[in-house]
Amino acid sequence: MNSEALSQFKKLFEDQRQKIAFSQRLMNPEFILSSDELSDESDLAAVELETSMRLRMRNREALYSKKVEAALQRLNDGTFGACEECEDDIELKRLEARPTATLCVSCKESSERSEHLHADGHRHKSEGQLMNLRIASF
Ligand SMILES: [Zn+2]
Repeated sequence: MNSEALSQFKKLFEDQRQKIAFSQRLMNPEFILSSDELSDESDLAAVELETSMRLRMRNREALYSKKVEAALQRLNDGTFGACEECEDDIELKRLEARPTATLCVSCKESSERSEHLHADGHRHKSEGQLMNLRIASF
């Protein structure tokens, strides 16, 4: 990847880091009204719903923030844009669509295929157990 593209990604991640920091402050649970201040049942339900939505968003953002930090780390290391599996370059189009991607399209597809196999129940269950046994006996 050329240095111009790299510096664009760096700028993007630094922007996102700032945005996340800002919204994490906004979503601080201390800003959420305490339930003592509410008498109405429906208000209480609304606050509970909002609280759980905020917490979910915070969790998602915290996860994303980790990915952004990892991507900045890879930019510093000079490994940004390389697939973690096969070490080939990740397609630029893919990085533009999903800047925190760490796998190239073909590795991503094969990892999704194997997740799918594991997810679909009984047929592969015995294989999974055999594999575990094999690992355990090493
Ligand atoms: Zn790959």
